[in-house]
Amino acid sequence: MSAIHLAKENIKVLLIEKNQYPQHKVCGEYISNEVLPYLQDLGFDPFEYGAKKINKLTLSTLTNRTISSELPLGGFGISRYRIDEALAEKARSYGATIAHETVTDIQYHDEQFDISTSSKTQYQSTLVIGAFGKRSNIDVKLSRAFIKRSSPYLAVKAHYKGDFPDDQISLHNFKGGYCGVSQVETGQVNVCYITDYKSFKKYKNIQEFQEQVMSQNKYLGQLFDTFEMAFDKPLTISQISFVNKPAVENHILMCGDSAGMIHPLAGNGMSMAMRSGQMACTLILDYLNGVIDSRLELETAYQKAWKDEFQTRLNASHVISRLFETSLLSNIILATLKLFPKLLSQVISRTHGKPIKV
Ligand SMILES: Cc1cc2nc3c(=O)[nH]c(=O)nc-3n(C[C@H](O)[C@H](O)[C@H](O)COP(=O)(O)OP(=O)(O)OC[C@H]3O[C@@H](n4cnc5c(N)ncnc54)[C@H](O)[C@@H]3O)c2cc1C
Repeated sequence: MSAIHLAKENIKVLLIEKNQYPQHKVCGEYISNEVLPYLQDLGFDPFEYGAKKINKLTLSTLTNRTISSELPLGGFGISRYRIDEALAEKARSYGATIAHETVTDIQYHDEQFDISTSSKTQYQSTLVIGAFGKRSNIDVKLSRAFIKRSSPYLAVKAHYKGDFPDDQISLHNFKGGYCGVSQVETGQVNVCYITDYKSFKKYKNIQEFQEQVMSQNKYLGQLFDTFEMAFDKPLTISQISFVNKPAVENHILMCGDSAGMIHPLAGNGMSMAMRSGQMACTLILDYLNGVIDSRLELETAYQKAWKDEFQTRLNASHVISRLFETSLLSNIILATLKLFPKLLSQVISRTHGKPIKV
């Protein structure tokens, strides 16, 4: 997104991505509508790619209690396989160069960056946006503080063939985690869950975990009984961490998960990533156009903007995810939300932003 934004303004952009496109990725693939105006302003309309409009939410607890609600802002379902490739193509069409290499080091000196990659290529740049996700070899290289802390979560995702409404996202609570279910542009159903090692390690494999633990939630039990997996095997990731990270490190403006990750329960990590990219690009353009005088001013302004925009929703999402961890509390919360349905919309709004102004 940042490559598109800057290339569109005639800035010379190099995007370095270690993987090839298209590629499946562990993600719930629900994107909050708050980024729709920004995406469309950059010339990308997800509905041209078949994205599903999603405006209903159903929650279920460990004891199979449910609540449904309209989503205050809504969102859309599109696979990372499709959107990541389409955005890369859009960046190329505006003149950005994409190099499929792994960045191995980023050194800053004398107002410039030296970027090394696995193919031994060296690049020089005036500015670097770090958008390398939740945990990367670059974090290790930069000795970022969070990397030394262990992260107790893992996640699993697959697409399934099965009957599921295309305008709905369901979040099912099970012992030790949550599972999101929603359609993507192909009509297949994304089933993506996050859990902690403590809950998972007692079981031999994913199948046994799904049968023994997740299927105690009857909605997930029905899903695994009747849906047919469209992948050869599910994708997994581990070491997911929600700890705070600085938004600027080694003069790199960190965007998306590199700057901080919201709990997937909130369903807006991607829109936060896009929004942070927009904030960084706007300030970068001001810097390059002389509106911002110095690199220090640029970095300070970005750090402040990041905190003002995201800190409250990060805090809210951590509290909400904790509250849903015990069955007693989650049942009390659900009973309360049923009595006061408007509260659910307010809770969701707390973890989301407003539609992005362009
Ligand atoms: C289980 C789970 C479910 C989720 N569900 C949702 C959801 O439904 N909706 C939502 O909005 N968000 C969701 N998220 C969050 C969302 O996936 C992230 O917030 C989002 O992908 C962050 O985007 P990003 O660009 O910061 O990082 P990424 O999308 O992770 O992109 C980082 C890129 O950097 C590349 N990279 C890393 N290191 C290097 C290197 N050294 N050299 C070159 N390239 C490198 C990677 O290959 C990758 O392509 C979920 C997260 C998890 C864990």
